[in-house]
Amino acid sequence: MKDFYVTIGLEVHCQLLTQAKMFCRCSTDYIGKEPNTLICPVCTGLPGALPVLNRRVLELAIRTALALRCEILPQVVFHRKNYFYPDLPKGYQISQYDFPIGVRGIVEFVSGGSKKRVRIKRVHVEEDAGKLIHEGPSLPWNSSGVDFNRCGIPLVEIVTEPDLRSPEEARDYLIMLRSIVRYIGASDGNMEEGSLRCDANVSVSRDVETLGTKVEVKNMNSFRSVFRALQYEIDRQKALLEKELPILQETRHWDETRDITVAARGKEEAEDYRYFPDPDLLPFSIEPKDLEEIAKTIPELPLERKERFMVEYELPEGEAGVLVQEKEVADFFEECLKEFHKPRMLCNWMLTEVLKNLNELEINITESKISPSNLAELLKLVDKREISGTIAKGILEEMFKTGGRVKEIIARKGISFITNERELEKIVRETIEKNPQSVADYLSGKEKALHFLIGQVMKVTRGQADPELAKNLLLKELNSGE
Ligand code: ADP
Ligand code: MG
Ligand code: ZN
Repeated sequence: MKDFYVTIGLEVHCQLLTQAKMFCRCSTDYIGKEPNTLICPVCTGLPGALPVLNRRVLELAIRTALALRCEILPQVVFHRKNYFYPDLPKGYQISQYDFPIGVRGIVEFVSGGSKKRVRIKRVHVEEDAGKLIHEGPSLPWNSSGVDFNRCGIPLVEIVTEPDLRSPEEARDYLIMLRSIVRYIGASDGNMEEGSLRCDANVSVSRDVETLGTKVEVKNMNSFRSVFRALQYEIDRQKALLEKELPILQETRHWDETRDITVAARGKEEAEDYRYFPDPDLLPFSIEPKDLEEIAKTIPELPLERKERFMVEYELPEGEAGVLVQEKEVADFFEECLKEFHKPRMLCNWMLTEVLKNLNELEINITESKISPSNLAELLKLVDKREISGTIAKGILEEMFKTGGRVKEIIARKGISFITNERELEKIVRETIEKNPQSVADYLSGKEKALHFLIGQVMKVTRGQADPELAKNLLLKELNSGE
């Protein structure tokens, strides 16, 4: 069987985090709102209405382009992309054409254990369209409605060159891209809610020199569906090539429930959008000093930060990668580190206990009641062996629930800690006396018996002993008793 070469290029739309729409002052906060309550003559394209560019849109788009290491084009030009669709009341979308905000960028990410890079072809801004509604309590039978609330919400479109080689790479690039747009505050990158949407172009070829016919796949609303859709599409194209059947250049939709891609019915619109410069929005140039100001707002990005964490804090790559994925988590880590200087131990607690609590409460770290110095306070006690890890986990849970401070929770719950070695030694000796069979088992090489004995000590102390210490004392006692 001959080799196949897979090529993937992604087109991603991110909703920019502005309060007002792109060319009017309507709110962008449309989730859960009644249809058509966030609209005005501008975003619904009534005759005579004039668009005025929201400055923040430009700032966020430039920030995005800079973070993706693009060249910023000096002129800002808006074009009309003309097409008919019921969710587009103006009959055109204000977009960009031959003068996108940024071109020729680079995104680096890690996939399959090695560093990859994908070239960014262009970054441009455009307005979103409305939404058709085909079912709902207020709709008359057999009819559809349209909600214009989303019309005019600013989007940034990020198009890669066809540099990705597998569904894994496509997914890992997307995860990095989402992390970047979130780091810079350009978008919340939420795929489920549609603030990050991805169209995937994929082709398969038997010749490394020439690209195959590309198929565009739409309608995926999670990283997992992008991955699955690409896998499916690659297999489908390979099968066609093996049978020497043609691959049609077409748009296909990912059908989440059936786990397949299906050809989009017919061509709804002509490919020719009759782009022309929007006469309502005159071209203008970006001042170099404004560009400099925006550049200053870009924080250290996830990949650099990960590499710094690996060097500065001696963290393994995998752990560092998870820690920096969300800026707020990495910020929390570094804040906490100022008061508790053990990066490895802190990292372990963050990635297990802290993330576990956040997941259980379904909140992110900025919404949580625990502060970096609270966590530092707790870990200092664990580190000094004043409390056991098990007890600390319980206290942490309580801290997440109530926001209480460590000392206060300890006092309130009346937790007394048996760290006193003498006291624990006594209990250990008693435990050994009461369990001769287990002692014999242990001495004849049964490791399990030791765990049983530790368990007994913990039981007698109602979980308040330090298990490490209990184990050490047991070992000392058992090995000297021979
Ligand atoms: P179009 O003009 O059809 O939109 P573009 O050149 O703008 O095509 O490319 C759209 C996307 O498709 C880009 O992300 C690009 O990387 C990708 N792409 C282009 N050619 C191929 C191909 N042969 N296989 C896979 N992806 C491709
Ligand atoms: Mg395109
Ligand atoms: Zn409006």
